[in-house]
Amino acid sequence: MVFEGLSSKLQDTFKKLKGKGKLTEKDIKEATREIKLALLEADVNFKVVKSFVKNINERALGADVLKSLTPGQQVIKIVNDELTSLMGGQPVKLTYSPKGMTVLMLVGLQGAGKTTTAGKLAAYIKKESKKVLLAACDVYRPAAIKQLQVIGKQVDAEVFADTEEKNPVVIAEKALKYAKEHFYDVVIFDTAGRLHIDEALMDELVQIKKSVTPDHIILNIDSMTGQEAVNVAETFNEKISLSGVILTKLDGDTRGGAALSVASVTGKPILFAGMGEKLTDLEIFYPDRMASRILG
Ligand code: GDP
Repeated sequence: MVFEGLSSKLQDTFKKLKGKGKLTEKDIKEATREIKLALLEADVNFKVVKSFVKNINERALGADVLKSLTPGQQVIKIVNDELTSLMGGQPVKLTYSPKGMTVLMLVGLQGAGKTTTAGKLAAYIKKESKKVLLAACDVYRPAAIKQLQVIGKQVDAEVFADTEEKNPVVIAEKALKYAKEHFYDVVIFDTAGRLHIDEALMDELVQIKKSVTPDHIILNIDSMTGQEAVNVAETFNEKISLSGVILTKLDGDTRGGAALSVASVTGKPILFAGMGEKLTDLEIFYPDRMASRILG
């Protein structure tokens, strides 16, 4: 998992804390310094680290902790709580529109995993006994429509595509009409990405948003892209107001700390985590479980 380095560093710090019967202020300061370095090394955004460490220090230096019989355990619990809250606190489930069809729009940079995630989500939603349509709105990447069609077959979900039409906004409108006429419960729009954020892409997404009025706009973030993940999340959120995030490639082996910062920076929940290339590799994101996984 992307957090292995962070995990082993934090565990080392915790081992030291647990090894001591009593803790002094100095011990706690030393531990928080180590935690800070571990987070920064794991690529967690520095602003996020700063406020995280401040919270830990304030709580851990509280008289109750130092006086308690198991101060080390208390500090570990505080770190666990704060890490959970940094990743959004309570898990947020994908909700469906109470009246009629639910419209999901997947956005993100090229290669972030949108098309794969569209398939994973279709499989997940189908399991909830809903009829799902996938709509192929990426007209720029030559193989994108074909890729979605292949994925649609694998998860047994219909794909709306129009290879003649070059305007993604028109395709989106047609797909929405088709979905309504055929009584789909959920339609997932797979949109185009670019290698970097640009105005044209954002304008196109704004147009699609206007024409299909999504219930949820979900940003796919590649967990292995480092600090860029934070900029991407901030920009997309400013321009098209996200409802949530899916962190993809959390099964990777590079530092994934930046991805952890995304919930904190945007204030938007992490709904799911992509844990592999297979279409079953999608997990609901539970901040508390992820914190426990990281802290070991
Ligand atoms: P798009 O350009 O945003 O539509 O991205 P794709 O869906 O084409 O995905 C880009 C690459 O990332 C593909 O090779 C996918 O198999 C891979 N990918 C997507 N999600 C995951 C994931 O959660 N884990 C791993 N390991 N690979 C993923």
